[in-house]
Amino acid sequence: MSQKILIIEDEKELADILGEYLKVEGFEVKICNDGKAGLEYFKKEQTSLVLLDIMLPILDGITVCREIRSMSDVPVIMVSAKSGEMDKVVSLGIGADDYVTKPFSPLELVARVKAQLRRYGGNIEKKSSDNGERICVGVLSLIPGSYEAYIDEVSLNLTTKEFEILLLFAKNPGQVFSKSQIYEQVWGYEGICDDNSVTVYINRIREKLKNRDCHYIKTVWGAGYKLAVDA
Ligand code: CA
Repeated sequence: MSQKILIIEDEKELADILGEYLKVEGFEVKICNDGKAGLEYFKKEQTSLVLLDIMLPILDGITVCREIRSMSDVPVIMVSAKSGEMDKVVSLGIGADDYVTKPFSPLELVARVKAQLRRYGGNIEKKSSDNGERICVGVLSLIPGSYEAYIDEVSLNLTTKEFEILLLFAKNPGQVFSKSQIYEQVWGYEGICDDNSVTVYINRIREKLKNRDCHYIKTVWGAGYKLAVDA
């Protein structure tokens, strides 16, 4: 069965072009021109991935993304007209998997769609095979099978991406990871490294750890970050 991509985009011409490129790659495509219609479609129909514009009539993309995340793990790629707008969206941590700023090439977007689908498929396999595994470092414990992280049995409430970054550190305590290494490992797409979003994510994880009085993520100046348990 072919995978279905839901495009929620009010620029009809852009939506049609993207739709054509995705169809050539063998995807089924559904286009909705406003946020409300898109969300309603998502609730009713099986969807493999959502391409979501931010500025949308009736219901904006941020609200739509939050609604989708409240019911599903399906990959969401946010599309925005302005990079400044995108920084704000990234910092909100609404749970999108990737971010693309207009103008972009349809081929680049298709590559990102494929990368997300591969990663998502891989995660589902990992989730079922990792059952019960628990990784403990100091006061931290992470359960890859359920994407839960705890400090002293209190959940840190991490988003999927925050969890994946912390898991990378926890599996390699003491090892320094550069921003681009983190980006590649977690977003799984080489070549397009957005240092800014890695920084935003690291800061959000640190904030959540700090609330539990944990300061394990250290900055190694000029090199990156590492997880180090306090002496
Ligand atoms: Ca728009």
